[in-house]
Amino acid sequence: MSTTSTWDDPNDCPFCGDELQNPGAAFIDHIHDNPDCEEGFETWRTNVNDDICAGWSG
Ligand SMILES: [Zn+2]
Repeated sequence: MSTTSTWDDPNDCPFCGDELQNPGAAFIDHIHDNPDCEEGFETWRTNVNDDICAGWSG
């Protein structure tokens, strides 16, 4: 099972479905312009960190 922190289509925002110019800088600009998406991104990133911490415990 992979825990790779990517989604299926990085050219679309996974939170609102908007098309992005690219999956990198344009996505960062996008979440800065869209608080709802930024919140979703923060939640997603927290979940990823939780997985990492669980893997490291013990
Ligand atoms: Zn979005």
